[in-house]
Amino acid sequence: MIEPAPDRVHLSPPDTGDDERALLLEALDSGWVAPAGPHLTAFEDEMAAVLGVPAAAALSSGTAALHLALLLCGVGPGDEVLVPTLTFVASANAVTYTGARPVFVDSDASSWCMDPALVAEELARCARRGRLPAAVVAVDLYGQCADLDPIVEICTRYEVPVVEDAAEALGATYRGRPAGSLTPLGVLSFNGNKIITTGGGGMLVGDDPEAIERARYLATQARQPAPHYEHTETGFNYRLGNLAAAVGLGQLRHLGEKVARRRAIRRTYEAAFAELAGITMMPVAAYGEPTHWLSVLTIDAEALGASREDVRVRLEAADIESRPAWKPMHRQPLFAGCRALDTGVADRVFERGLCLPSGSGLTEAQQARVIEVVYAAVGQPATR
Ligand SMILES: *Cc1c(COP(=O)(O)O)cnc(C)c1O
Repeated sequence: MIEPAPDRVHLSPPDTGDDERALLLEALDSGWVAPAGPHLTAFEDEMAAVLGVPAAAALSSGTAALHLALLLCGVGPGDEVLVPTLTFVASANAVTYTGARPVFVDSDASSWCMDPALVAEELARCARRGRLPAAVVAVDLYGQCADLDPIVEICTRYEVPVVEDAAEALGATYRGRPAGSLTPLGVLSFNGNKIITTGGGGMLVGDDPEAIERARYLATQARQPAPHYEHTETGFNYRLGNLAAAVGLGQLRHLGEKVARRRAIRRTYEAAFAELAGITMMPVAAYGEPTHWLSVLTIDAEALGASREDVRVRLEAADIESRPAWKPMHRQPLFAGCRALDTGVADRVFERGLCLPSGSGLTEAQQARVIEVVYAAVGQPATR
């Protein structure tokens, strides 16, 4: 028997329930223990319905979904792809898989997401040079949508495809529209730490059923329709398994509650830290409603009397997981040779940003403990 994890408070652990257990056992007993089956199809159909898109392909990871999205956009060796610098490495790794090079774009201070003005400047510059990027990847950071209307408008003008990396944003909205549905191809992740989980998995969603069907074909080793194994191009083993999809199906049924809980967690932190000069929450842009996948705050060490690292180390000593905001990709040794449009916004977020425990299963008592330890780290008693 494997014991469950002890009392440590994690950043964003899986949050599963009875529906997942029942559906998983149903899938197991059905004999569909393969990357095919009724739960897989139902998971795709229900997700497409939730997002209001015509088609969806369930895959082994969000990273795989990004890789296939870029391939569908025609990205290949020698190309450039614009990617926000403030993101998880997967957004940029998928570009590398295609043989293209990422070009990193700094953030807008009012959303921390990719700055549309920088995208516009870069595309104008590239157009003058006569060589446009092959695609733009916009990331919905920490559950807040990128400002996609201006990004899509600019990209449409230059005929550059845009992919929405909504791995952290399932359940968020942008001007009333669901995250993941804001561009012709959207990417979701069901990693263990995301809004919903399949224990590892992802999905490519889109408005063109033929494109999604091609993604499914590429994800299953690109088998041609023939009784024998016939291949004309390189495929991948990227399909999600039916058992995992059954868990995802159970999770999806509770999406609303999970997002509501993450939003409540963010509100509680916001209220608790409102009177601490030196702590500011991640900004919420007026155009949408984030999931608050992670509650992130920034610390002005001088005003607070404690640095981001002081607070993080105190939390760690209390067995509470917290993490600095993403280290910008253009500061990563891995991407040392890549171009970057750098305004310093992402650098400041990394220097000051701290992600706090935000999982939908976080109890009120656990959150109160997190708040107490933050107050202790700055030498003040918690007032709430
Ligand atoms: C988690 C994540 C991914 C990758 O998803 P996986 O399912 O872990 O491969 C991609 N982009 C962003 C922004 C993410 O947070």
